[in-house]
Amino acid sequence: MNWISKFIKPKIKSLFEKKSSKNEENLWTTCGCKNLIYKEDMEANLKVCPKCGAHHKLTCKERFETFFDSKEFEIIQTPLPKDDPLSFEDKKKYSDRLKTARKLTGQDDAVLIAKGKVQNIDIIVGAQDFRFIGGSFGAASGEAFIAGAQNAIANNVPYVFFSCSGGQRMMESSIALMQMSRTALAVNELKKKNVPFVVVLTDPTTGGVTASWAMLGDILIAEPKATIGFAGRRVIQDTVRETLPDEFQTAEYVKDHGGIDLVVERQYLSSTIGTLLNVLLKKTEAQAKQDSNVTVDKSLQAVS
Ligand SMILES: [Zn+2]
Repeated sequence: MNWISKFIKPKIKSLFEKKSSKNEENLWTTCGCKNLIYKEDMEANLKVCPKCGAHHKLTCKERFETFFDSKEFEIIQTPLPKDDPLSFEDKKKYSDRLKTARKLTGQDDAVLIAKGKVQNIDIIVGAQDFRFIGGSFGAASGEAFIAGAQNAIANNVPYVFFSCSGGQRMMESSIALMQMSRTALAVNELKKKNVPFVVVLTDPTTGGVTASWAMLGDILIAEPKATIGFAGRRVIQDTVRETLPDEFQTAEYVKDHGGIDLVVERQYLSSTIGTLLNVLLKKTEAQAKQDSNVTVDKSLQAVS
């Protein structure tokens, strides 16, 4: 028995032990493949499991860091509507859930919007934090989404959005459902103005988010194995009364059935989207040139 265990009071000793065991825990993380992974390796691999390739969830800021050139971006402030308009309460008060989520994420709501460059193209990017009440989409998320779209239109730059959500926020009831049509209208405005809109569906993208803006991108890309669906697997299985394949509602399955365009690993998202946007922007530039030529021709006709 050494002098520490002999003389230090038990309480102090327990504090000492707790601290050291916590430090040990912090060095390691686990994955669905049940491998113990060194946390640093996971972070260095953009939170993709080096053993099984599972794409773990990112916070909004982590997402921006992995996506923008040189990790440089600027957060755009978006309007924050009144909290808890329906004074909703289930097992907990909605206002308390908001407080906890804000403390956990350091964000006002689940969506963050940022601007920066990707492959040297100016761009507006949105992302959802799943830790914020399951990334659920309510009035504040709607306002943020629309502010991002307006910013993209005003600056004539592409809009890329990373979805990660269980769907609409039930604590805001019909107000949350209204965001489905509001965001669909915002996407319509982007299309009218020829502003490219790309959605990256990450795990999970379900419910009202899938049923609105997340499926309205000009190009739909998903991260490998992401769950993409509207209703849950069990609900569908009980309704159609058929056994569904194991890979049902995975990104790969949805792609094979024509629901999305591409499945791209996280490390290649930035380069793939950069290449696609280059193609789209050249096209829109050519269109704009064509459009202006038509106007000139018409004005010439008017003069003659
Ligand atoms: Zn794994």
